[in-house]
Amino acid sequence: MRVASRAQMATESPTLALTAKTNALKKAGEPVIGFGAGEPDFDKPEHIKEAAIQAIRDGFTKYCPTAGTLSLREAIVAKIARDQGLQYQPNQVCVSVGGKHSLHQIFETLLDPGDAVFLPAPYWVSYVDQIRLAGGVPLLLPTTEATGLKVTPAQLAEALELYPFAKALVLNSPSNPTGATYDEAEMAALAAVLEQAPELTIISDEIYEHLIYGGRRHVSIAEQEALRDRVILCNGVSKAYSMTGWRCGWAVGPKPFIEAMVRVQSHDSSGTCSITQAAAEAALRGDQSCVETMRQAFEQRLRVMIDGLNALPGVSCSEPGGAFYAFPNITAHLAPGETASAFADRLLVEAKVAVVPGEGFGAPGNVRLSYAASMADIEEGLARIAEFLK
Ligand code: PMP
Ligand code: GLU
Repeated sequence: MRVASRAQMATESPTLALTAKTNALKKAGEPVIGFGAGEPDFDKPEHIKEAAIQAIRDGFTKYCPTAGTLSLREAIVAKIARDQGLQYQPNQVCVSVGGKHSLHQIFETLLDPGDAVFLPAPYWVSYVDQIRLAGGVPLLLPTTEATGLKVTPAQLAEALELYPFAKALVLNSPSNPTGATYDEAEMAALAAVLEQAPELTIISDEIYEHLIYGGRRHVSIAEQEALRDRVILCNGVSKAYSMTGWRCGWAVGPKPFIEAMVRVQSHDSSGTCSITQAAAEAALRGDQSCVETMRQAFEQRLRVMIDGLNALPGVSCSEPGGAFYAFPNITAHLAPGETASAFADRLLVEAKVAVVPGEGFGAPGNVRLSYAASMADIEEGLARIAEFLK
């Protein structure tokens, strides 16, 4: 049987593949330290679990409205008012099976064949495949450490001049894999450029908004009044509440766009699990102190991870503003012709440390280490890497 060219073109998600490989090795008794998985290692609070159990007991186990239950969409609207001070209506929200599913459906709903989408690089692995699967063409905006791995207004202006018909821009602040986080002035400067491109849609993936460090405030591009009606926000409960397996994410944006997305979803998943929706609502409406507890733990681990990496000879790692990833440059340690993938394989076999190679993120000289791991694992993993690099 020959699969469609669309499916042939799709690459396997390297983040999920590495997580599976690490788990299999651990199960086989290998003493592997996993820095691959992009998921919090915390349990979630009791009130979230209780909400799910109660939903089952109440028989809240039938199909829900395709866009998500009204009460969950109201909770999402209230969350955005609380955290961003922005007013939306429940009919501007579509709840899907995780942020990844929301993004996939955003591209499916937005892109015609050949539509170009600006994508700052390094980027999260799934954007490129999702854009391509929807018939679009990713246009990379490469960033360097000199600009903190962020797109500059001049770079964006130049790209818009070269590709005036581009359909959309993906912003991901804080970023996976770099942790780069745009502050208020940087976001305003990008917005000033984007105001000159009134046809461009801005997709803002804010899934790491609560995992932000150094006293920073999360800044959403949707705060820019002049752009609001062409911003699509994407978020979810996976990272903020350690609910990766529950599969709940959402898109928020202009009503006609969201209506179209809900039509697409009505033939796709019919929305996410009813029990998950009850749990997500409890997470959003309940006590938020669990989010801050996790954030503080990640900030402590960040310090140990980043300082440890920068102390290794020939390794440089820029300071992340958010998320839970370190993205060091390891070019100096690559043998002639060696790829980051081959380096990561060697590290796994010889030092039993799992990291994600940078190729899938558009950065072949880097590897990604998630510090959503215990402090003991971070310290032991760094010691093994130091020994390996010798
Ligand atoms: N966006 C980014 C940048 C991510 O790292 C992830 C993590 N998988 C997602 C979206 C989607 O997460 P989920 O599907 O678990 O909501
Ligand atoms: N976003 C996480 C990561 O980048 C989870 C895996 C995935 O969904 O790709 O590792």
